[in-house]
Amino acid sequence: MIYAADAVLPITSPPIREGAVLTREGRIISVGERDTLIARNPSEEIRDFKDAILMPGLVNLHGHVECASFGSLAEPTPFLQWLGRIIKAGRNMNRDDWLRAARKGVKRYLEAGITCTADITRTGVGLQAMAEAGMPALIYFEVVGVDDRVLIEAVVDLLEKIKSGESIAEASGLRLGVSPHSIYTLSSSALKMCSEISSEYELPLSIHLAETQAEVELVRDGSGPLASAIRGRLRLEVIKQGGSGKTPAGFLDGFDLIRDSLITAHGVWLSDEDIALLKNKGASVAICPTSNELLGVGEAPINRFIDHGLGFGIGTDSLASNPELDLFLEVRKARALLAKQIGLKTNLLPLPSKKLVEMITVDAASMLGLNDQLGSIESSKRADLIAIDYDGTGSSVDLYNYLVESASKLSISHTILGGDIVYSRHK
Ligand SMILES: [Zn+2]
Repeated sequence: MIYAADAVLPITSPPIREGAVLTREGRIISVGERDTLIARNPSEEIRDFKDAILMPGLVNLHGHVECASFGSLAEPTPFLQWLGRIIKAGRNMNRDDWLRAARKGVKRYLEAGITCTADITRTGVGLQAMAEAGMPALIYFEVVGVDDRVLIEAVVDLLEKIKSGESIAEASGLRLGVSPHSIYTLSSSALKMCSEISSEYELPLSIHLAETQAEVELVRDGSGPLASAIRGRLRLEVIKQGGSGKTPAGFLDGFDLIRDSLITAHGVWLSDEDIALLKNKGASVAICPTSNELLGVGEAPINRFIDHGLGFGIGTDSLASNPELDLFLEVRKARALLAKQIGLKTNLLPLPSKKLVEMITVDAASMLGLNDQLGSIESSKRADLIAIDYDGTGSSVDLYNYLVESASKLSISHTILGGDIVYSRHK
């Protein structure tokens, strides 16, 4: 199949006006000018999107598809109250309910042009939903709400999930990982267990870190609103001992959890010391602007990430704290945050439009260890593409600026996964 459009944006090579992509058996064979590609492959079927930009599908650095049925919780709510609501909402769900939610989450991703994600799944259904959809992902099995009273069961459960997940992942081209949920929902032994199992099985890690100021307080002093809310539910040493005197990243480092495979989510309250530690150990941050805004937890210090050279990317988080799941919107929010933090105009920022678009494509793919497979339009990579409305006014318009300033999930007309159109807005 030849997919053609007014403009093709391969990301890792210059944009092609009147471009096309030749795909076969789910892979990209070649990319180039429309006329040349058609002339060289005269018998190939052609799908011409015309007024569109054709680019690689978007890559989300942090999400939870199994939480897609919690959309009613996505309204401005203080974090602790929201946390209580989400725990309550999940209590009566059985596996079928979770799976239905995960399938809905995948559908919403494809409608939003997201064709690859880092997915955190407590129940394991995230893996099944991605495998069914043929959507590449890094699936992290989540460990949450574990203290020493239930540690053995948690170890057995995690090992079983890894064991049964390996064959599905291999058959579906998915990667597996481990996600200790957070410092405030796991005892020290549980954090240590996650660290050891991820080393033993060579699985990458992800954790929610420094999302709220209350988390910083809990880790440092063992007190504050989050500590009060957790105390009656879980037995955590850090609370019992009146805090560790450390920052969240410093505390985590005591369990050897800060390493180059680690993607921390949120990072709103990371100190300079934390940022330097993450950078030195090769870890990175997935910022989630809409989720942070909705739950009123603060804003990620993007300017300081850049100053320290810390790698970071963008995640949507789940429908429970982000009703949009729109990575273009997140990009615009990240740019606005940075402009506010450093007081510069957007056209002077150290994050130009090209870099922002790379962040939600090839850079994110690279952080997930999947950049040999996806994230750009290059021969032999997966044919995961999106077509975005583009009126083509003035061929001098910079396509990266156009995307960052004007695109949204609503401008996505088609999503192509493994060479097939899996979403068409006109249907
Ligand atoms: Zn999350």
